[in-house]
Amino acid sequence: MRRSALTLASILTLAGCSHAPAPAPVPPAAAFHPAAVNAARLAAAAADGANWMTYGRTYDEQRFSPLRQIDVDNVAHLKLAWHYDLPVAARAQESTPLVIDGVMYVTGAFSKVFALDARTGTLKWSYDPQVAMSTDINTCCDAVNRGVAAWNGKLYLGTLDGRLIALDAATGRPVWEVRTTPSGSRYTITGAPRVVKAKVIIGNAGGEMGVRGYVSAYDAETGELAWRFYTVPGAPGKPDGAASDAVLERLARPTWSGKWWTVGGGGTVWDSMAYDPKLDLLYIGTDNGGPWDRKFRSPRGGDNLFITSIIALKPDSGAYVWHFQTTPGDMWDYSAVQTLTLADLTIDGTLRHVIMQAPKNGFFYVLDRETGQLLSVHQYADTVNWAKGIDPKTGRPIVNRAADYSDSGKPASSNAPGPLGAHNWEPMAFSPATGYVYIPVSEMTFPYVPAKRLVWHELSWNIGLDLNAGSLPQNPVIVAAALKGLKGHLAAWDPVAQKEVWRVELGHPWNGGVLATAGNLVFEGNAMGELNAYRADSGARLWSAMTYTGILAPPVTYLADGKQYVAVEVGWGGAFGLAAGALALDSQIDRGNVPRVLGYALDGTDQLPPPPPPPERKLEPRPEIAPARVIARGKATYHQFCGTCHGDGAVAGGVLPDLRYSAAAGNAVLWSSIVHDGALQSAGMVAFGSELSAAEIESVRAYIVDRIDESAAFERTKRTRN
Ligand code: CA
Repeated sequence: MRRSALTLASILTLAGCSHAPAPAPVPPAAAFHPAAVNAARLAAAAADGANWMTYGRTYDEQRFSPLRQIDVDNVAHLKLAWHYDLPVAARAQESTPLVIDGVMYVTGAFSKVFALDARTGTLKWSYDPQVAMSTDINTCCDAVNRGVAAWNGKLYLGTLDGRLIALDAATGRPVWEVRTTPSGSRYTITGAPRVVKAKVIIGNAGGEMGVRGYVSAYDAETGELAWRFYTVPGAPGKPDGAASDAVLERLARPTWSGKWWTVGGGGTVWDSMAYDPKLDLLYIGTDNGGPWDRKFRSPRGGDNLFITSIIALKPDSGAYVWHFQTTPGDMWDYSAVQTLTLADLTIDGTLRHVIMQAPKNGFFYVLDRETGQLLSVHQYADTVNWAKGIDPKTGRPIVNRAADYSDSGKPASSNAPGPLGAHNWEPMAFSPATGYVYIPVSEMTFPYVPAKRLVWHELSWNIGLDLNAGSLPQNPVIVAAALKGLKGHLAAWDPVAQKEVWRVELGHPWNGGVLATAGNLVFEGNAMGELNAYRADSGARLWSAMTYTGILAPPVTYLADGKQYVAVEVGWGGAFGLAAGALALDSQIDRGNVPRVLGYALDGTDQLPPPPPPPERKLEPRPEIAPARVIARGKATYHQFCGTCHGDGAVAGGVLPDLRYSAAAGNAVLWSSIVHDGALQSAGMVAFGSELSAAEIESVRAYIVDRIDESAAFERTKRTRN
C-alpha cells in the first residue's frame, strides 16, 4: 500500500500538478468529555495528582496527593486565587470537591451541586434537587452533603431526602433518579457515593431516628438496583431477599434479643467506604445501635451485629466476606463509620495490607484487610473512660462498669468520648511519605442519662436517653467552666508503632478534615476559620489563612493548567455547631458563617470581602412569669424536641435561630402559629402540632421566656462586675 501511495504521489508530481497541496484537514479538537472517569483512571489515580476523582482521592481513601509544587519551602507564599460564594443555606458545608480535568464538582447544604472552573471558581452549572427544608427534622447533624461520585461522564448525588440521582456532568441535568430509602421514612443521605466496577454504592443515615441500616449498589448507567446489604437483622421469618439474608441469619440474629426490628436497630452506613481492586473487596463502616440505650433494642444484651463494625463485601454481589466489630453492644453512639484508610505497612518485618480506622470510641485499629484480623489497637484520644482498653487477642473492649448505664440504669455522667466521638466524619489522611496518619481529634465528655421508658417520636430523636436530665446546667459560670474541658487537636499517628508522633493543640473541638501531600505538608481547616498548613514530619505550622467561617470540610489539591491549587469548602454547623458551638467557641472570630469554596495558589491575588457585621440583638426580658412546673415541663419538652437544633439550654450554637432573641418568644399567638401550625415550615421549621399539645408548646415558650430573663440578669451582673 505504501509503495502504491508513493507511486501515485510521484506520478502526480511528475505530471506537473504544481498546485500547492491542499492543506491537510485539521482534525476536530478532541471533544472534551467531562467526568471521564473509568476503572483504569481510578486504578492509576495514586500517581495522577492533577485530578481528585473519588471522595478519598484514591480507592484506598488516603487523601494523599503526590503533588509537590507547593512544599515546605514555598507554602508561606500561598495566597487566595479565587473564591466562590455558595448560594446555599448557611449550615455546615462538608463536601470533598471532585476535580476532574480542570472542572470542580462540589456540593453544599441540602444536597445542591455546583460545577466550577477549577482555575477560577467560575460557575459552569448548578443543580438543585429541591429537597424540602423540612427534611432537616430527620437529620441528627445538619442538612449536609459530603460530595458526589463520578463515572463515565456522569455524577452521582445522594440527596438528603433519600434519592440517588445521576447527573450529566456536562450540563448538570438529571439522567436517572431512584428512591433509595422508603418514602415517608426518616432515613436521610449525607454521605458521598462511590463507584466500584460500574456500580454506584450508596448508604444512608438515621441512627438517631430509629432506622435499620443498609447499603445499596445501583447500575451506574441505568440506576437499576444491583444488590442491597442490610447491616442488622429484620423481623424473624421475613427475609429481605437481599445479599445479607444468609449472614444475618447465621451470625447476626443470635446476637440480638427482644423486638429490635420495631425500633430499627441502627447500623447505618452513612459515610466511609473503601475499595481494594486487587482483593476485590469493598469496605463499609456502620453506625451505632438504635436506640442508643441497648435495653430498648436488645433487652437481654448481646453484641448486636453488625452495628459499629467494619464489614468487607464483594462489590459484584454484596456478598459478606468478613466483619470486625469495634464496640460490641454499643450504647454510646460509637460509630465505626469514620474514615477507612487502606495502606501497606511493614509490621514486625512483614508487609501487611491493612485497613485502619480511628472510630468514635477513642481507639485506633489496624486490621489485615484480607481477613479482618486485628493486628494492633491503641488508645489515640487523651480521655477514654468507657473502657479500660481493648483485648488485643479478641478485639473486645474491657468496658468500665460505670459506663454501662443501660444495664445499671444509672447515668454515665462524664463519659468519654461522648457521642460526637474522639474522631467524627471529618476525614483523616495518611501519608505514605511519612508513614503517619493525621487525625482530627476531639476531646469531649457527655452525660448518658437513661430514659425510664422509650416514647417513640416522629419529630425528634429516638435514642432512649433523657436529654433534659443530661442538658447543661443553667448557671452560665458552671457552663463556661464545663466547656473549658472541650478540646481538640490534630494528631500525627504512627500506625505501626501505634503512638502519637506530634500534635497541634487547637484549643477547640470539632475541627476540619485533613489533606496530606508529597510536599511534606498537611492541610487542615479548623473551627475558628483558619486554614493551616503544617510540616507533615514535625507539625510545625508553616502557613495560615483566615476565612472568617468555621471549617469542617477536608481540603483537596489538584492541577489546573499545570498549576497546583489547594481548595476547601467553608461553612460551620453540624451536630456540635448546632447544639453548643457558640458556647464553646466564644467570639474570637466573627461567626459570619458564609458558605464558600476557596481556591489557593502560590501566585493568588484574590481577597475575601470583609466578614458581615455581627447581628444586632438584644435580650428583652418579659414581665410574664409562668409557674415553675410549667417552666420545668417546657424545659423537658425543649430538650427532647428543640435542643439538638436550637442549642442546649436554649443557647443556639450560632447556626439556627437563638430562640431567646425571637420575636415569637414574647407573642403566644405567633409562637403557636410557628411551632404548632408550621408557619415557617418552608424555611425548615416543621409543625409540632402532631406530636405536642398546645399546652406543651406554650410551656416551651414559658421556658424560653424564663431563659431570656435569666440570661438578661446574668448580662447585668457581668456589666456591674466589670
Ligand atoms: Ca450516630
